[in-house]
Amino acid sequence: MRRRIAIGGFQHETNTFSPLPTVWQDFQTPGAWPGQTNGAAIFGVFAGANIPIAGFIEAATDCDLVPLLWTAAEPAGYVAQAAFDRIVTEMIDGITKAGPLDAIYLDLHGAMVTEDHEDGEADVLRRIRAVVGPDLPIAVSLDLHGNISRDFFERASCVTIYRTYPHLDMAETGARAWQLLSTLLERGKPFARAWRQLDYLIPLTAQSTMHEPCGSLYAMLPRLESNEVASVDFVIGFPPADIRDVGASVFAYGTEQESVDEATEAMIRALHDAEGDFVDPMTDAREAVREAIRLSAGANKPVVIADPQDNPGAGGVGDSTGLLRALLDEGARGAALSMLWDAQTADAAHAAGEGAEIQVSLGGFHPQTGGAPIETRAVVESISDGIFPFTGPMYGGSTANTGPSACLRLLHDRADIRVIVGSARCQNADQAMFTAFGIVPEAQKILAIKSAVHFLGDYAPIAETVLFAKAPGSNPCSIKEIAYTRLRPGVRLGPMGLTSR
Ligand SMILES: [Zn+2]
Repeated sequence: MRRRIAIGGFQHETNTFSPLPTVWQDFQTPGAWPGQTNGAAIFGVFAGANIPIAGFIEAATDCDLVPLLWTAAEPAGYVAQAAFDRIVTEMIDGITKAGPLDAIYLDLHGAMVTEDHEDGEADVLRRIRAVVGPDLPIAVSLDLHGNISRDFFERASCVTIYRTYPHLDMAETGARAWQLLSTLLERGKPFARAWRQLDYLIPLTAQSTMHEPCGSLYAMLPRLESNEVASVDFVIGFPPADIRDVGASVFAYGTEQESVDEATEAMIRALHDAEGDFVDPMTDAREAVREAIRLSAGANKPVVIADPQDNPGAGGVGDSTGLLRALLDEGARGAALSMLWDAQTADAAHAAGEGAEIQVSLGGFHPQTGGAPIETRAVVESISDGIFPFTGPMYGGSTANTGPSACLRLLHDRADIRVIVGSARCQNADQAMFTAFGIVPEAQKILAIKSAVHFLGDYAPIAETVLFAKAPGSNPCSIKEIAYTRLRPGVRLGPMGLTSR
């Protein structure tokens, strides 16, 4: 008998420190990912993409899938309650109309905060459970940047989570959600399951699975699985969220409660043992630029400087001028920065045309978090509609839509810097964020990149070295400097850090 499974997705990573609210329109507009996609269009739009729902669809071949809706918005501040209610209502309408179902699969993020709910995903499940009851299996896949509450754990039947950061295994995580769900359906009764939160927070810049200790910690997960333990996964947490349940937590599912508990404890123990191994790579922006100039002098590959605190992929605005100002002040030459969110300057460049010299006021629309605009003359080197294919290992297969965009060469007495400006916020996790505008990344001395970790997937292979600059932005990465007011008690602020009261 073919199973009938409703599938949908609703992803948001909410940074409660971002000055930008997340509204309904943000879920409609495509960015690095498609905008809201309804019903059967899901099958065409997501085919071949590195997105969880695509992996689930590809794996669940012997089922009848009932597509609901899939939507995501670029990470930013609190999700407007009206937007959340409207999207969840549409999803539930689809479930109601679907008729009898054997299960539901949801492609969620795990760090959504709405105006009314600290754990948005827990409320998605509460509302769906109110319609389908407590027993229908609901499988969920999550980003590893989830901040999970007990309510969420109790309402989901089984959960799989990305095991890589950069997220190279998003589609694979959707496929694993199908495998776990099919094991559950065959079992015919709920899994034995366990969930435990970690008692210290881990900064984003120390979370990459391309570095230690996260590489080894995530590599442990398959070894914890056995005949009695069907899966073990953990979210590592998304720190820029002032909520009770921020931080890492471990999930395990299987057939024997004792074995599932043991696997969960083993993962928590390994995280405790690794606590002293995390390093915060951030240095002051000016020091990072001076170091990049020194290192690039004798290098034949670019020195990459990341700007994690203005990473739009974690709710940074993308208009911070801190790193650009350091590059100008230190007289960096042969440098290129991508991408500064500045629709006004992009429009001015389009109006003036390629080759024109214009006066610009770059970025700085939120000076309280990202510094003042930079006033300068610039030459418009190229203009673009901002629609181009991504080519790197994380977003490859998807199409970018950064809106009207331009490459500017800043006219400065000492520095020689080109800046890509775009009209939509977009993390630079892909070399196409330079090449689409005529810049050859390998030919630059210095690449300045608004990303925290995802850029490593495409840029580490071409980099002489990678530096992490601490510049102003609304994605605070130094945990001990984050002013939490709602964090649960007993949590250490960073590995080996202070304890929250
Ligand atoms: Zn993530």
